[in-house]
Amino acid sequence: MPQEFRWNAELVAQITATPWEPGKATRLESSTLKYRGLYITERMIDTHGPTMDCKKCSTGLGQHSAACRQRFEQIQADLLQEKLEEEEARNRKKGERAAEEQTERDRQTASSSKVGT
Ligand SMILES: [Zn+2]
Repeated sequence: MPQEFRWNAELVAQITATPWEPGKATRLESSTLKYRGLYITERMIDTHGPTMDCKKCSTGLGQHSAACRQRFEQIQADLLQEKLEEEEARNRKKGERAAEEQTERDRQTASSSKVGT
């Protein structure tokens, strides 16, 4: 097997191993998921509840624990993913409708040109 091909096969295997469906238009870049220095607001704690064993969440003093940060980062990533999927579903619906209209237009054009000849 040529070296080049082997490398590609490996890459393809990696791609199919990702949790996302292949060919899906919306995909979160890994950089988007990495909220370095994510600011955990009171509202977020109110909405999602305080993290267990996090001093900042329970007493409001000090800093959020690493586990707490990780938890809220995951929550934010999930919310973002959800939003993207919603958006994608909306766009897909819009695209389907546009395609239907296009088909209708094509049919009309075809029949009118038939009439013309
Ligand atoms: Zn916390």
